[in-house]
Amino acid sequence: MIKELPKLNYAFDALEPYIDTQTMEVHYTKHHKTYLDKLTMAITGTPLENMELEDILMSPEAIDENIRTAVINNGGGVFNHNFFWSVIGPAKSTGPDGMLLEKINGTFGSFDMFKEEFTKSALGLFGSGWTWLVQDKEGNVKIMNTQNQASPISEGYKPLLALDVWEHAYYLKYQNRRADYITNWWNIVDWANITL
Ligand code: MN
Repeated sequence: MIKELPKLNYAFDALEPYIDTQTMEVHYTKHHKTYLDKLTMAITGTPLENMELEDILMSPEAIDENIRTAVINNGGGVFNHNFFWSVIGPAKSTGPDGMLLEKINGTFGSFDMFKEEFTKSALGLFGSGWTWLVQDKEGNVKIMNTQNQASPISEGYKPLLALDVWEHAYYLKYQNRRADYITNWWNIVDWANITL
């Protein structure tokens, strides 16, 4: 089980001006940390303590009912943020290539059309949640939203790309302007770290 926050490969100010330093710091040291603390609290002394987080979230129905909601919310919060930090970064990569680009082109028509559809999905998400590019067991890619901290791995999907659409991810800089946050976020997607 995860006991610590993952080490970020970049500084809190490295994603400026697209994501501001204060948002990064609060997001990582407060929000992400709180999910980890609450997850630890929920599973300490239970058999889940010795399991991998991925394995727990892949079979949510197997979690003891008394702690299921806490584990899904906080374990999902840990997993989703770990993943989110890994697919963004200061490296200026312009887009996917190779097999991933082929899949995106084949599914959405073009990279631009994919971005448009992904953005639309994120803008349409009501309340708090995430927008994802995921791959199913047959290898197909698709865009999906999840509510709150639900994770696509609980539905059998492999996450390829994640956008945190919770207000805590953008409110300090963008307030209610979610569209501006998303537009700018594309600049910090680190495509080199995204693999099928
Ligand atoms: Mn978040």
